[in-house]
Amino acid sequence: MKEENIHINNTVISFFLNPTNEYLRYKVAFEKKIQLYDKKLLEEKSKYSQLLNSIPLPLALINEQRFILFANNFAKDIFPSNFEGSYLHQYFRDPILKNTIEKVKNDLDDYSLNLQIDLNNKNVLFNVKIQPVISEEKEILYYLIIFIDQESISKSIQERNDFLANASHELKTPLTNIIGISEIISSDPKAIIENKNFSKNLLVNVKRMQNLIYSLLDLSKVEINKNIIQYKLLSLEKISNSTIDEFKNIQSKEQNIKIFNNLNNKSLKLKTDEKEFKLLFFNILDNAFKYSSSSVKIYLEETTKNIEIIFQDNGIGIPRNEINRVTERFYRVKGNEKIEGSGLGLSIVSEIMNNHEGEIKIESEEKIGTKVFLIFKRV
Ligand code: ADP
Repeated sequence: MKEENIHINNTVISFFLNPTNEYLRYKVAFEKKIQLYDKKLLEEKSKYSQLLNSIPLPLALINEQRFILFANNFAKDIFPSNFEGSYLHQYFRDPILKNTIEKVKNDLDDYSLNLQIDLNNKNVLFNVKIQPVISEEKEILYYLIIFIDQESISKSIQERNDFLANASHELKTPLTNIIGISEIISSDPKAIIENKNFSKNLLVNVKRMQNLIYSLLDLSKVEINKNIIQYKLLSLEKISNSTIDEFKNIQSKEQNIKIFNNLNNKSLKLKTDEKEFKLLFFNILDNAFKYSSSSVKIYLEETTKNIEIIFQDNGIGIPRNEINRVTERFYRVKGNEKIEGSGLGLSIVSEIMNNHEGEIKIESEEKIGTKVFLIFKRV
């Protein structure tokens, strides 16, 4: 038995020492290298996981042996908890996937395929892109697999189209007015002096456009922040006081605005971002005073799970059947058209609360007032 072992070992050694077995020696060396890379990759996981987690698509990195070395948070959210660290074909048995990976390996090029994936007993169609990660020696180290949910893509294309249609419609109205007045003035310069309404209308429409553009920019910034923003622990008392002071400073002097701020829990910290926090307060306070409130009470309610910041006004209120709709983009309550607004303020607030994994809740009664709750999870 012992002799046999020695014999085998010797055979194996001589086999590898034989220069004609170049290929096998190379293969062993290469596999060792791959293992080294895997080790290095796992060691450096924390560095690149942040980058891969910021890509808002489920993706996984597999090695030559088809083991899932890494799955980003989006992949972990939709696939079973032991997805990372498992064998890829244990989850996806489709032979086309195997063939496609072989094609990537042979051609050192990207390929994609459509896969029906069972997620919580629902078949979802994904477009799966496979990209080779290649070493300097032009050998495959890993495969990057990106899962693109076809349904959500067509939904988001639809949402984007609706958004563009609404935004351009909203911009067109003041723009048409500005062009109309400008045309009259250019053919008859005295018209602007004789008709005071012209200059007033011009200003109103330019301001309307400016507000809309600012709101669109805020919305896009907040959308970009999603998944990449790093919140810091900030003192709630400090940031709310400075935000309220800033809000008061930019209000016109004629408005007799009273803000009762009761957020004075000195030790309370909130995981947030100063700019986003400011946008929350500005949009809600602006609405409260715009919709004819003379004062706003801001106070805090704490539960074991949540920190709630509540804004209570005594303005015109929102009709019961429209409360659910006011956070939709461009939604404005019927009959309020004369009050300046873009219909984007509360959708920006809602987007920011999503970024915080929190929520916005609204309670309102017509002619009595409105309460807006910003509900943050306790850290
Ligand atoms: P807008 O720019 O029109 O104010 P928002 O998204 O901020 O857009 O609000 C959507 C709609 O909700 C407003 O048009 C308004 O009718 C209603 N609304 C929001 N906040 C209040 C409030 N505090 N009191 C009464 N109505 C409000």
